[in-house]
Amino acid sequence: MLPVIALVGRPNVGKSTLFNRLTRTRDALVADFPGLTRDRKYGQANYDGYEFIVVDTGGIDGSEEGIETEMAEQSLLAIEEADIVLFLVDARAGMTVADQAIANHLRKQEKKCFVVANKTDGIDADSYCAEFFQLSLGEVYHIAAAHGRGITQLLEITLQPVIAELSAENEAVANDDEQLVDLYSEDDETDGEQQAFADKPVKLAIIGRPNVGKSTLTNRILGEERVIVYDMPGTTRDSIYIPMTRNDKEYILIDTAGVRKRKKVSDVVEKFSVIKTLQAIEDSNVVLLVVDAREGISDQDLSLLGFALNSGRSLVVAVNKWDGLDDYVKERIKTELDRRLGFIDFARLHFISALHGTGVGHLFESVDEAYESATKRISTAMLRRIMDMAQADHQPPLVRGRRVKLKYAHAGGYNPPRIVIHGNQVHDLPDSYKRYLMNYYRKALKIMGTPIKIEFREGD
Ligand code: GDP
Ligand code: GDP
Repeated sequence: MLPVIALVGRPNVGKSTLFNRLTRTRDALVADFPGLTRDRKYGQANYDGYEFIVVDTGGIDGSEEGIETEMAEQSLLAIEEADIVLFLVDARAGMTVADQAIANHLRKQEKKCFVVANKTDGIDADSYCAEFFQLSLGEVYHIAAAHGRGITQLLEITLQPVIAELSAENEAVANDDEQLVDLYSEDDETDGEQQAFADKPVKLAIIGRPNVGKSTLTNRILGEERVIVYDMPGTTRDSIYIPMTRNDKEYILIDTAGVRKRKKVSDVVEKFSVIKTLQAIEDSNVVLLVVDAREGISDQDLSLLGFALNSGRSLVVAVNKWDGLDDYVKERIKTELDRRLGFIDFARLHFISALHGTGVGHLFESVDEAYESATKRISTAMLRRIMDMAQADHQPPLVRGRRVKLKYAHAGGYNPPRIVIHGNQVHDLPDSYKRYLMNYYRKALKIMGTPIKIEFREGD
């Protein structure tokens, strides 16, 4: 699980500036979910070696009645979903009534909350910030978001304890997982099917925007199979883990749609939660993205896809609500999907109707294939042979009069598969040749449903 940081504070204190700074790394991904979650912006960040999810909350200006009006609702949600709340105040502007209103709310929360005084550049920070101690939220940290000052120290202080706590929790959850498996295998002993439970279950996250049919699909999948409903305590942003078997294989469905309700789900949290989805992706082996055939691919679908891609997880796409469409419309939708989803050509697309059950069974063929592809063990000899064949079929280009030469390949890891290629001038290889190599490996190794990462290293 990644720690979740929410940035709250009144408008203009520098939340977006800090958000942008935190997510400005190369592999950060930012998604807006307009309409769905109004002002909120999400980023998966890797700042100075710290990995976390950051949420910009738009802003509470404190004029709301008891901060509980519509406008502040999203900030309240973000606070509820976060591990850490960074409460930004403006050191130059000094303390305002709005700051006090926000502090009153935060003091009532059982959250790790830190007061962060921004815009401390060019002023005597200590004397300007002293008044914020009156917020009664403890220490006041100084930063200058626009200049990137104080941020690493702040992260160190705020993140370290949470990371430690989360990894302890993760261990507990891992044990729970094992218990789930135990529970299930015991149950199944009566069938004498022990053999099938030797492998770890595949964790399948079912994700997608609201109303695309996730719940219908989950119910359809579960309805056909035996289910153990497992009510787990936890926070509202957690998905429910549902163990199941299908054709003697074990799976754990990660249900982001809330099909199986927790005992105590607070009403405040919406049915759809971006953070829940991000964590589900992170914790899965295979992501099943459900989209609505009738709505086409929206920007929100693309944001979710981006997060799935960024995590390197295996991916299967279910185009749902494929029932009752005439052939002309189906063709049009397929053309549109090809155009918009060209960048995930490694993933299998299924046209299904969760409502009628059409095509649902076949999804699992692709899920299995994707998982096997992602975890396949490939020998160095094989990787090297394929590299030689690729090079023989189509030579790498000349760069500054010298031919790029690939010399050696070996496996760099699994899930997703990583291939490390050593050679001369490999950093000058054009993207087109990298793509060629990737596709060559994909075909030769019959890898489907998972991205392949190729790393290039200069020299032998
Ligand atoms: P938000 O409304 O809380 O998201 O605030 P913004 O990030 O949009 O920032 C509001 C204004 O404060 C902008 O004009 C920023 O350039 C400015 N600002 C943000 N951080 C700093 C800082 O560290 N120092 C100074 N001097 N100005 C800043
Ligand atoms: P979720 O928010 O993603 O969990 O979506 P739901 O499963 O609640 O479905 C939203 C709506 O779409 C419901 O009215 C469903 O009955 C409908 N729906 C779901 N799957 C299908 C399908 O395959 N075909 C059609 N026509 N409607 C569907």
